[in-house]
Amino acid sequence: MSSFEQTLSKKTIFKNVSVLSPHYVPKELPFREQHINEIRTVLTPALRGQKPRNLIIYGKTGTGKTCCMKRVMDDFVEAIKEGSASIHYLNCRIYNSRYRIMQKLLKNHVPELEKAGFGLPFLYEKLIELASSGQQIVVILDEIDMVKDLDDLVYTLTRSNDEIRNGGVSIVGISNKLSFKDSLDPRSRSSLYETEMIFQPYTAEQLQKILAQRIEEGFEKGVVDASAINLAAAMTSQENGDARYALKLLNKAGEIAEQEGKQNVTDVDVESARKKVEIDLTAETISTLPEMHKIVLYAIGGLSLSGSRYSRLEGMQNGFLFSGEVYEEYENTCRKLRKRARSTRWYKEYLNDLEMLGLITTMPSGKGIRGQTTLIKIEPEPKGILDILRPGLFGS
Ligand code: ADP
Ligand code: MG
Repeated sequence: MSSFEQTLSKKTIFKNVSVLSPHYVPKELPFREQHINEIRTVLTPALRGQKPRNLIIYGKTGTGKTCCMKRVMDDFVEAIKEGSASIHYLNCRIYNSRYRIMQKLLKNHVPELEKAGFGLPFLYEKLIELASSGQQIVVILDEIDMVKDLDDLVYTLTRSNDEIRNGGVSIVGISNKLSFKDSLDPRSRSSLYETEMIFQPYTAEQLQKILAQRIEEGFEKGVVDASAINLAAAMTSQENGDARYALKLLNKAGEIAEQEGKQNVTDVDVESARKKVEIDLTAETISTLPEMHKIVLYAIGGLSLSGSRYSRLEGMQNGFLFSGEVYEEYENTCRKLRKRARSTRWYKEYLNDLEMLGLITTMPSGKGIRGQTTLIKIEPEPKGILDILRPGLFGS
């Protein structure tokens, strides 16, 4: 037997692993039919040549916002009649500024954009030209809170409607951050929030059903114990109700069971999967960070391990660091890496982004301790963070 024949003949407990990947969108999305219908209703005018109302969808990570949107988009694209409408999906973690978003939106319409950069006024003119041909342009901004100059973007997109003759531009914003609304200036708030929708976290019972559906498609029959499903659902709902987490837990538990040559996935495998999944999720988030963010996080991790220099000050809470000492450590790390440290204004932005991604928590120190400053705490276990960051920054 060749080595492949051997591995191929080995029985596997998976029927189709890709069903468990976070990118897979199942045909049926239980508990979200109503949401899907509502989004559809909001967007329907675009298919009739009228401008839809803008929509904001928000809810915690893993509540199904992105997959519901993708489902609606597929149906929308099918229903479009000859260029009368278009729908554009942008992930704002990647397209995170007005300029990048405008550029991406118009890339298909303006081939010259591939070759050279153009100023914003040029892009704006092109957007108006495109819509004025009678097109309803729907822009989906997923993770909209990651856009740096969001107020400017909202202003530009909504204002374009005053100049467009036949068509229109409308926005669907999706945010994981519940407090996102407060950070907008009042004018963009009122334009964006023409309609709003909330996705609630899944309960343990709902997660069970979602998992059961994937198990049927992803695993061989009868392989996953009912108690393992219940445990994965219970752990997830305790944690955050994030369906992505539940699916990863299940996938990892399956891998562990298979590696150990078992025929079934049990509670024990789910337990062992838990820790691995947490590390994986953090590593994934970190891998998408730009370099300066990584260096700041590295500084926070390092200081957290050695402990704040001021930890013995009165009123200093456990595990928190002073913003000033972190900045100094960041400068030190930059020096070691022969990079130029950015100013404190940028540094504050980095802290903001890291907090948004759940990697750190910050809070104002209150009066008394060294005047007013910001206190910073790392969320995941610092040693793990340093292990993830070190190879990318310093080489292995
Ligand atoms: P969000 O965008 O709110 O963070 P996603 O839409 O990315 O969440 O969903 C996270 C994962 O959970 C995806 O893999 C998705 O397929 C799955 N998922 C979410 N909601 C459901 C549902 N109702 N039924 C089946 N799978 C779901
Ligand atoms: Mg999403």
